[in-house]
Amino acid sequence: MSNPAEIFGELVFSESVMKERLPKETFKEVKNAIDNGKRLSPEAAGVVANEMKQWAIEKGATHYTHWFQPMTGVTAEKHDSFISPKDDGNVILSFSGKELTQGEPDASSFPSGGLRATFEARGYTAWDPTSFAFLKDGVLCIPTAFCSYGGEALDKKTPLLRSMEAINKQAMRVLKLFGNDDVKSVKTTVGPEQEYFLIDAEGYNARRDLIYTGRTLFGAPPPKGQQMEDHYFGAIKPRVQAFMKDLNDELWKLGILATTEHNEVAPSQHELAPIFTTTNIATDHNQLTMEIMKKVAQKHGLVCLLHEKPFAGINGSGKHNNWSISTDTGINLLEPGDTPYENAQFLLFLMAVIKAVDEYQDMLRISVASAGNDHRLGANEAPPAVISIFLGSELTEILDAIESDIPYGGREKEIMKIGVHVLPKFPKDTTDRNRTSPFAFTGNKFEFRMLGSASSVALPNTVLNTAVAESLKQYSDILEKADDFTAALHDLIRSEITAHKRIIFNGNGYDDAWIEEAEKRGLSNLKTTPDAVAHYLDEKNVKLFTDHKVYSEVEMQSRHEVFLDKYCKLLHIEAQTMLEMAIQDIIPAVSSYSAELAGSINVKQDAGVDVTFEKAQLELISADLKSAYEKYSALNKSLDQVESESCFVKKADGYKDVIKKEMDELREVCDKLEGETASDYWPFPTYGELLFAVR
Ligand code: ADP
Ligand code: MG
Repeated sequence: MSNPAEIFGELVFSESVMKERLPKETFKEVKNAIDNGKRLSPEAAGVVANEMKQWAIEKGATHYTHWFQPMTGVTAEKHDSFISPKDDGNVILSFSGKELTQGEPDASSFPSGGLRATFEARGYTAWDPTSFAFLKDGVLCIPTAFCSYGGEALDKKTPLLRSMEAINKQAMRVLKLFGNDDVKSVKTTVGPEQEYFLIDAEGYNARRDLIYTGRTLFGAPPPKGQQMEDHYFGAIKPRVQAFMKDLNDELWKLGILATTEHNEVAPSQHELAPIFTTTNIATDHNQLTMEIMKKVAQKHGLVCLLHEKPFAGINGSGKHNNWSISTDTGINLLEPGDTPYENAQFLLFLMAVIKAVDEYQDMLRISVASAGNDHRLGANEAPPAVISIFLGSELTEILDAIESDIPYGGREKEIMKIGVHVLPKFPKDTTDRNRTSPFAFTGNKFEFRMLGSASSVALPNTVLNTAVAESLKQYSDILEKADDFTAALHDLIRSEITAHKRIIFNGNGYDDAWIEEAEKRGLSNLKTTPDAVAHYLDEKNVKLFTDHKVYSEVEMQSRHEVFLDKYCKLLHIEAQTMLEMAIQDIIPAVSSYSAELAGSINVKQDAGVDVTFEKAQLELISADLKSAYEKYSALNKSLDQVESESCFVKKADGYKDVIKKEMDELREVCDKLEGETASDYWPFPTYGELLFAVR
């Protein structure tokens, strides 16, 4: 067993390493860049680069890369070696300040949603000093933002950093009003809990649906699924244990604070939770965690599936985005305090989140939209596609009491005056209902539970940060003008509760009655990715992001296109894979089996044996086989039609309305055939074989 304290962060050029290795003056500049977003001088960048190179070479590195997060959803890197030629024919290992702070990868092969048509194909990457450089497979990785030469963001990190700046600016205004003069900056924090499946590599390799799409496109339910719920928090199998140990070691070396690990509800499903950290670092770490999970799994003869719904009928995987706001002085602004003033401040920040979630339900829904996640949201395993907030009964009662000026039931039945009274302590709610909420207050943070397991957490947090920044901006605009601060604050919170209480729901989010109720309350229910993305460019959304300088309008237009383009491409690959598997694997296998059945019927009939049963079976299989072929042909034809559509919005609708339905129909009859065909003939591993293979 490795000692976590010894290996922790050994592959990271962290603040402590920089403090130790850099000249005092240079370190001070770096620290200023990290804490206050100040630009590094070229001289300091040169010193940092040289020391970083030295450190990396000591640890065996030969190459460096600007590591960035394009809109593909995975991270990108292009390795360059440290080697530079000398006049005498030898080489030296060099790495300049410019190479550290700026790179120029060819942007033309990354999704840009039309931006590359208007701007130069080259893009540039710029070091984000708030996220530390690290070593991966002998390569020095420098976390960077990725932009076009026109300055348009081509990645997920740039808008995230801008949104952190936006919320910092507005939260600071509010904190000033409450007299927190010692606070210099505010950052949001995130702890993403990651779910995943771990299956045996042999089964994986025998299924092209898993290889091409990350999920099974065919498969009848096994006799045993997750009914017994015996997997949840159950004993971890030795092979999985060995994987988790290795994974932890790798993550710790990279300074990633992985702490808890347990089995999830579905067979072969597990979860990893890190300790929370600053949002952009948490985002980098989550990307790295997903990458390393896959790599470590491979070493153990396993495959890590990050898809949101690898198996129909079995719980899918999500990501819980725990989110809060902290000051540089270490105060969690979503932690109710002990004094009337702290309480009042807490209530205002709480209201800011409630308002943000209510007003930007559609944007939050969009932020978690993907073809994969469409299989989960609203399917009784993940929260519905409707967004609501769980506050717990105590806090909700307090807000009710404030709103209607009635005495709060607690101790002395007093009327809660904000800024005058202390909130009663409320216990942390851990009910089942809490777990069915898409957005739950869990004592000192919010947990956004709609994220899919495969997506980056960058966008949901960009949206949250920006929407809350807007609430805080509106609140400061009002309160800065007030003559009587306490009275104005009280009135503001009261009227905000009235305005936004429709978004608060403490009941069971999985209940159909809630969906009806939500509709009455006017909450939006955007069921699919195209339905959701249709609101991306709504005026209020464009205004939000442009006002706070998180996206320009052009950037939003390009992202709208990237969203739908990605959706269509994914479904296209899925449909094509299904067609291949149906015509090349399933239909031939069932044909062979029915031919054998027909042969044995002939032989038996000649011998005068009763063949009633075999004949009935053969007829059933033949009818289903015919139907499978018809469904195959229909999908094949529709796919050509939808693919030829030139408008990307219409194309996405075609995938959503036609292709998905026909894929489901083809699957249904093929899964039925799986149950009717002798197992020796079935061309790939079944659900049972995939889900229960790892021991
Ligand atoms: P539970 O959800 O079971 O109550 P925890 O309270 O330990 O568990 O938190 C779950 C996740 O939330 C962990 O990843 C944790 O690091 C994260 N978390 C805790 N506090 C914060 C915070 N202030 N900001 C962001 N994430 C947090
Ligand atoms: Mg959780």
